[in-house]
Amino acid sequence: MHNNQDLTLARAVRVLEERLRPAIHSRPHPLMIAAHRVGGEPIAVADGLAAEYAPTQPGEPWGRAWDTTWFRVTGQVPAEFAGERVEVLLDLGFDINMTGFQAEGLVYRADGSPVRSLHPRAQWIPVVGEATGGEPIEFYVEAASNPVLLDYVPFQPTEKGEWATAGEELLYRLRRADVVVFETEVFELVHDVEVLLQLAQQLDASSARRARILFALDRALDAVDLQNIAGTAAAGRAELVEVLSSPAAPSAHRITAVGHAHIDSAWLWPLRETVRKVARTTSSMVTLLDEHDDFIYAMSSAQQYAWIKEHRPEVYARVKQAVADGRFVPVGGMWVEADAVLPGGEAMIRQFLYGQRFFRDEFGIECRGAWLPDSFGYSAALPQLLVGAGFEWFLTQKISWNERNIFPHSSFHWEGIDGSRIFTHFPSMDTYNSQLSGDEVARADRNFKEKSIGSSSLAPTGWGDGGGGTTREMIARAKRLADLEGSAKVTWETPDAFFERARAELPEPAVWKGELYLERHRATYTTQHKMKQGNRRSEQLLFEAELWASVAAVRTGHPYPYETLDRAWHEVLLLQFHDILPGTSIAWVHREAVVRYALVAQTLNQIIADSLAALGVELDAAEPNLLVNAAPIAQSGVAAGAVSLPVTPAGTTASVAGDGFVLASDAVRIELDAAGHVVSAVDLASGRDAIPAGERGNLLQLHQDFPNLWDAWDVDNSYRTMRRDIETADEVRLDGDAIVVRRSFGASSIEQRLSLSADGRALLIDNTVDWQETEKFLKLAFPIDVFADTAIAETQFGFQSRATHDNTSWENARFETHAQRWFLVQEPGFGVAFANDSTYGFDVVRSQRGGTVVSDVRFSMLRAPRFPDPRTDLGVQQMRFALAFGADPARATELGWAVNVPARPARGAELAPLVTSSDPRVLISAVKLADDRSGDLIVRVYEASGGRASTELTVDLPVASVRAADLLERPGDPVAHSATDDGVSVGLTLRPFQVQTLRITRA
Ligand SMILES: [Zn+2]
Repeated sequence: MHNNQDLTLARAVRVLEERLRPAIHSRPHPLMIAAHRVGGEPIAVADGLAAEYAPTQPGEPWGRAWDTTWFRVTGQVPAEFAGERVEVLLDLGFDINMTGFQAEGLVYRADGSPVRSLHPRAQWIPVVGEATGGEPIEFYVEAASNPVLLDYVPFQPTEKGEWATAGEELLYRLRRADVVVFETEVFELVHDVEVLLQLAQQLDASSARRARILFALDRALDAVDLQNIAGTAAAGRAELVEVLSSPAAPSAHRITAVGHAHIDSAWLWPLRETVRKVARTTSSMVTLLDEHDDFIYAMSSAQQYAWIKEHRPEVYARVKQAVADGRFVPVGGMWVEADAVLPGGEAMIRQFLYGQRFFRDEFGIECRGAWLPDSFGYSAALPQLLVGAGFEWFLTQKISWNERNIFPHSSFHWEGIDGSRIFTHFPSMDTYNSQLSGDEVARADRNFKEKSIGSSSLAPTGWGDGGGGTTREMIARAKRLADLEGSAKVTWETPDAFFERARAELPEPAVWKGELYLERHRATYTTQHKMKQGNRRSEQLLFEAELWASVAAVRTGHPYPYETLDRAWHEVLLLQFHDILPGTSIAWVHREAVVRYALVAQTLNQIIADSLAALGVELDAAEPNLLVNAAPIAQSGVAAGAVSLPVTPAGTTASVAGDGFVLASDAVRIELDAAGHVVSAVDLASGRDAIPAGERGNLLQLHQDFPNLWDAWDVDNSYRTMRRDIETADEVRLDGDAIVVRRSFGASSIEQRLSLSADGRALLIDNTVDWQETEKFLKLAFPIDVFADTAIAETQFGFQSRATHDNTSWENARFETHAQRWFLVQEPGFGVAFANDSTYGFDVVRSQRGGTVVSDVRFSMLRAPRFPDPRTDLGVQQMRFALAFGADPARATELGWAVNVPARPARGAELAPLVTSSDPRVLISAVKLADDRSGDLIVRVYEASGGRASTELTVDLPVASVRAADLLERPGDPVAHSATDDGVSVGLTLRPFQVQTLRITRA
């Protein structure tokens, strides 16, 4: 027998694509189309239905960028369609190679009830399952002409990311609006052939299974008359029954398919469009659930459910029913799929608190796992926070995007900075948009790392971002792949069911300790500075607002602003979405976010002022004499959480010295040269100079920054080789106790104000940059005379170390890293801490100069990518840095808090702290009233030093009970406490980096 396998494959490909697939829909009859152009922001459905429509037809252009056009499609089912399954095909001008990211529509009936969505890969509308002929057809389509921004040549600067600059060009051209017959048997034949063909393409050329599949495909194609496909499809299928019914091997890989659509909450479209994207996709998914009994669909992000609830209640009612049936599965338990390294610790907890609260209130369930397939790296604090919030599992696949290193596990225990572990799975298909193609199914099997003992991986299945979610084609594939020889087995299952089996298969999973660093998207720690600043300031203000509102509530009965705080949190949590806070959205999104952050700040400052006023403390008073210190560290002699008279500040001086300048206190002496560079920084206690002899700190370095891909996201390692040091200053002068340095470069300029902190212990650098660069990266460099193998960086509720060398490819890949409020280089007995008030990126390089190793430490300040926002970060940007010399992690932690939660001047009554911790290693991260509005006080502390610490926590309040609580504030065991004069004292012993929540019921 001759082997003609290649010919059979080629034959099957051509017949499938050119003849069989187009024959699924037959006998088209054109329908009438009319259109109403909205010419602005979306309108209500009722207004869309009632609008004036003008006739249009296939071939006509429609839709300027971001506009909405309502189409009306009318006609009737032809009499000759009697007995047939009838659909409408409506092609708005789709490009099927682009599954999301373009025009989309939601189809309504004349009564305003939604039918389903229209997408490039789902252009059909159901009309009737078995026609009698003559049925009237009337559909309305709310169509969004969203521009394609990530085109065939991606990452080009574009003005289409804003309504105002997008231009009036009509972007789409109607292609067809026909009523057609849906040929069920042809549809089934297409999927029989497709699944077998794609399986054969994956099998070894010498395998018997492949030969038998191809032999059967030849026979099937022989049986199909290409001039009468509908009439002969059944005969073709009959030839494939045997090869399709041959079962999978006992050791076959098992894929849990979960219907899914990864819909970014904003990205290449504004937030308001996501509201509609979610409604469109979801309306189709609830219908698909009705039609296929075994199908399971999972959706994350409480925010997205809240949007449907508010904007498309009729879709939401169906979602709610499907959730109750266990078929539509909320996953992730978070408010949004947040960035997972930039949010502060409290904010991460609130993502879980507000997410789970929504799912509990709306559906009576809580998610058992965290679902972050796409965030750009995962902090080493997360395992503790996930476990503490009650999660049993964690899922992401993003680490498969690593540029250098392949992660060694698919399912494993992920261990955090405190030793907490959570069972984690990376879908081995390496995608969160599976279509269950033969290639993907084979890849899931091939890549799965635990195959010596385990067999299970998960596949989020469906088009995201406005691609429409799971399709009937994917369902058809899954049906054939359920138990098929030569393939992995595919089953629709809930993520919880998958994780139960995966955990049972791996009783002793491998352990990965520390952060899940993404070897890509390293620029997201810096891009769109105002997102970083807005987030940090909001987190600070929320901390202060909750503290003072709680103190006012428990001491004076002042009403606690639950609703206002909830709204502020919802805003901040939404803006932590993994394309907003990272700075990777279009200009529209970031412009709106700046406004939203400003409103949040206004609201929270009002809560702080009102709460303090209720306590007799007046902010913004003339001639203030008190300091309000919300931070969990003493500042200027004012205790943590107190309001009192500050101690007289230590004397700090700024003076001219020769050509240069000196900043001095009894703790440090900083010398600047005539160009405003720091040439000496002596810690007087140790006598050590942090700056190597003859070198300069506070040196601005400007790099060319044009990554290979993903401009707003990526900085490539090659950026370091193209550098310009800003050597000169336009002006350096004394200004009171500060030194002001002005420099210009290109069209940009910077003013720096260098001074010492009130206690004289830290160098403060306040930067105001008028940034006018293109594709540049601005760093502020300090050569530090410290021999450090690692740089220590604050993460949520603690810190972690990263190598400063690059011995291995893993270390080499971490050339740009992130910190929360501080990072530190140290050798035993001496270190230098670098704190910031609104940046996250930094790098440390070991260099050998003068026969010794120097740590070159740099803050990442600003970038200027041109995609997707062509004017990223242009304009005035501000940030504060602080340096402490002779520092260790404890000092760095203190500095980080001081820079971010500075004391506020005030007049009026002094206040003793409501809660104090006797051990400075145990810091208060939240004081608030309980989320359940019981009036209980919630106090959260964390061990900040990485060691064991015992503290006496004093609560200045009559107390009925003290209980431990989880991060969702659910009460646990009673905690022993003893009475004090005005309250209670609670003895706590914490593990390294442990986060502990207490729920205190007032007497
Ligand atoms: Zn995403």
